Amino acid sequence: MTGLTVPAYAKINLTLDVLGKREDNYHEVSMILQSINLRDLVTVSRSGKGITIDSNTAAIPADYDNLAYRAALLLKERTGFTEGIHIYIEKNIPVAAGLGGGSADAAATLIGINYLLGLGLTPGELICLGKQLGADVPFCILGGTALVEGIGEKLTILPKAPTLWLVLAKPEFGVSTAEVYRRFDKNKVTERPDNAAAVEALAREDMELLVANMVNVLETVTLEHYPEVARIKDRMLSLGAMRAVMCGSGPTVMGVFGGQKEAEQAYVLLKEEYPEVFLTRTR
Ligand code: ATP
Repeated sequence: MTGLTVPAYAKINLTLDVLGKREDNYHEVSMILQSINLRDLVTVSRSGKGITIDSNTAAIPADYDNLAYRAALLLKERTGFTEGIHIYIEKNIPVAAGLGGGSADAAATLIGINYLLGLGLTPGELICLGKQLGADVPFCILGGTALVEGIGEKLTILPKAPTLWLVLAKPEFGVSTAEVYRRFDKNKVTERPDNAAAVEALAREDMELLVANMVNVLETVTLEHYPEVARIKDRMLSLGAMRAVMCGSGPTVMGVFGGQKEAEQAYVLLKEEYPEVFLTRTR
């Protein structure tokens, strides 16, 4: 085998709570993450010497700054593989959107090279490497539905969420996750998610209870600085969304719709209004 292609699925936050800041400045989170069908494709192949990377867009770096490149380098350091590797990313997930695109690419790169070169790392070992790359990478290796705690390294696999039909809309600008966390002030939060209730809702396959518990505490920061995000939330609700919540640190907003038809109708209208709009569902 000279190459293989691995899907890199975006994530949404069914909930997102920030519990506090540790002494090393990392934030402790408690959140339920969910994979969705929107995906990049990461192709890893044996090629040349060292590690090289490119993609179908200038919106992401084609060097060490790309998280997928750093993932490959970390794997090389850990296992000492000597083969040349080329990484090609077909980017479909919007960048700096709160959908974990970089983390998904890094996870797919670890999985892909491990398989391609027969390195034999277990999923647990890949997750350990993922931790060193970013808070969402361990989850992206696992996929599905999971409670994510600590600084992203404590994963609890949850019952698969019921199919949720989603419309994602992203305004023109991106948002820096680091900046949002820097500005986050626990005292300003007006609504926190009840993660226990959301976990219970998943166990009971109770979609209404789940949707009612979708809360993202980072909205307090992002909405204050980017009123456009609040406007997209209102627009989603006016189009019949059961709930409209910001994804991660934003600025993408997801509208949760009662079914495929309702989501499609909203998608058609929103596509005319925002630069990046996606119709997708949980997987
Ligand atoms: P996070 O919350 O993990 O920062 P996000 O979904 O908000 O994720 P990403 O799309 O991962 O944002 O991009 C965040 C930053 O990471 C961008 O500035 C981008 O240039 C950089 N980046 C590095 N590698 C990638 C990649 N493979 N895909 C997307 N962005 C990448």
